[in-house]
Amino acid sequence: EVPVLTIDGPSGSGKGTISRMVARRLGWHYLDSGALYRAVGVAAAWGDLDLGDAGALVRCTFDTAIDFREDASGELRVLVNGNDATDELRTETAGAVASAIAAMPEVRTALMDRQRAFRQPPGLVTDGRDMGTVIFPDAPFKVFLTASAGERAERRYKQLKDKGVSVTLDGLLREILARDARDANRAVAPLRPAGDAVHIDTTGIGIDEVVERVLNVVGA
Ligand code: C5P
Repeated sequence: EVPVLTIDGPSGSGKGTISRMVARRLGWHYLDSGALYRAVGVAAAWGDLDLGDAGALVRCTFDTAIDFREDASGELRVLVNGNDATDELRTETAGAVASAIAAMPEVRTALMDRQRAFRQPPGLVTDGRDMGTVIFPDAPFKVFLTASAGERAERRYKQLKDKGVSVTLDGLLREILARDARDANRAVAPLRPAGDAVHIDTTGIGIDEVVERVLNVVGA
């Protein structure tokens, strides 16, 4: 079996950055599952779909081409139906839309096979909310990343500011808490650690130290 390392946790816990770095160190593939939900949400917006129409969203999920590319500087770009949507996907609006459609069981089911197809030799590092609980329950390595809400908001703030997106720290904190509450309280695949996940609280810990701790979980 191809090994999988799942990294789940709330928004801003550092999942994305840590997962990419760990995948690079291991030489494994990387799946940003949140980007799939964000991409479907953006495609639905482009198509002017009714976000309450599960049937239309499922069709949109199957019809939307989502491709990951590394650009010249090694940054991951996301193409939605052939268009580079990386910057649009990163906005908190796209996150909120993703979180709304991610609460629909039909949409989650429609994305299952697509996520599992990323399990290719020599291994996969994947980040999201339900990677260890629903998509790869048999993964040999599972991590649950957390950090205080204040620190998570600050990290997102820095990320977005670096990208030139104008946001306020207060507004971000409110949006992050609202999104986390929705992700944790939804009926399907709520955000929660797998029973066999190793918990790592990244509050006040540098990225390199977190990477080392995660690599320890894999025994690398
Ligand atoms: O991780 P990211 O912030 O990109 O995820 C955006 C939204 O997509 C999350 O708030 C969550 O609602 C949803 N999501 C999910 N399951 C995943 C990944 C993301 O429900 N595995």
